[in-house]
Amino acid sequence: MSEKPSADRLRSWDILSLLSPRPMWRVVRGVARAPLDSDFAGSPLAVCWFLTFACNARCSFCCKAAEIRQGRDAFPPLALPDARRLMERIRRTVDILYLSGGEPLVHPHLSEILDEARRLEFASVGMSSNLIALDEHAGVLDRLDAVAVSIHAPDVAGHARCLGVSEAVAARALANLDLLAEAHRRRGLKVIVNCVINPDNVGRVMDMVEFTAQRGFLLEVVPANEHGGVSPELTANPAYGELIDRLIELRRGGGAPHLAGSTAYYRNLKTLRPFRCFPYGVPNIMPDGRLCTPCDISGQYGVNVLEHESLKAAVRASLPMLGAYPCRQGRCFKAGIMERSRLFGLLLSRTNE
Ligand code: SF4
Ligand code: SF4
Repeated sequence: MSEKPSADRLRSWDILSLLSPRPMWRVVRGVARAPLDSDFAGSPLAVCWFLTFACNARCSFCCKAAEIRQGRDAFPPLALPDARRLMERIRRTVDILYLSGGEPLVHPHLSEILDEARRLEFASVGMSSNLIALDEHAGVLDRLDAVAVSIHAPDVAGHARCLGVSEAVAARALANLDLLAEAHRRRGLKVIVNCVINPDNVGRVMDMVEFTAQRGFLLEVVPANEHGGVSPELTANPAYGELIDRLIELRRGGGAPHLAGSTAYYRNLKTLRPFRCFPYGVPNIMPDGRLCTPCDISGQYGVNVLEHESLKAAVRASLPMLGAYPCRQGRCFKAGIMERSRLFGLLLSRTNE
């Protein structure tokens, strides 16, 4: 039986700390230093590198569907020597590396990239995955500190519909959870299950609370995002509001200590009140090294990190194209940025709560 997460309720701090095995002072130091810097945006704490936009699933709610459709020519993956150079520049600025996609497991150089991350002594290396191909690459788990896995329903048929794959493929992804559980027990790999609420699974998300609790995994619940906002098809469904109410109840009552996200986060998902965005701290990098400014929804790719001596220098070079900053539109409800923004807002006493 795998070890359960702490019985304490998970807060924003815990979400950030999932990617860092070191004490939280590292994050506090970064945030405290940021306002004193020439510009808050110039002090990244971590980086999210979209390693590839190739994927072996076809989720109807994929927020990277446009990039996946545009294909390899629009976002070519880096050759290994360039990938190593990019990582060196990232490492000069941040301790925490997070690899996302697309599906990182289908990247031809993932293994070498993870070796390089270890050689560069990143304090923490995390990765997102749909797990479909994990059994062919199980060795990568030994080089990771945290994995965020996409599981949207506890049953094969439901998960297959969400991923847009055959039931055989969905069954393989679910079976690969055992590999994660084993790495969690053996070497403390942190596992967080990411469940996207979508019109197909909205009635089954509560089952995911139990499914993840039984396995000792953390659970992050996020609504499907369409064109930079929560899908109207979802919010018009009364089952969506009822689900969020039940999740808020669980948060308040301490009934699901493995449920990530603050109560404020769930309240936002219910009211759909725009959040105050501070899109700082974790720059997004495209497969070829271009920086997304200020966030991956913006579609602004003016600066390539490979053309600068460090990630920090690249972020600074991108500042003139940020426009009104911070962005106050706040309707994208991007889970990671909402929680981070809330944390930054609290630390800077600028929260909109
Ligand atoms: S697994 Fe992720 S990247 Fe692939 S289609 Fe689904 S949401 Fe998109
Ligand atoms: S609110 Fe923040 S995360 Fe959302 S689109 Fe604007 S800058 Fe990006």
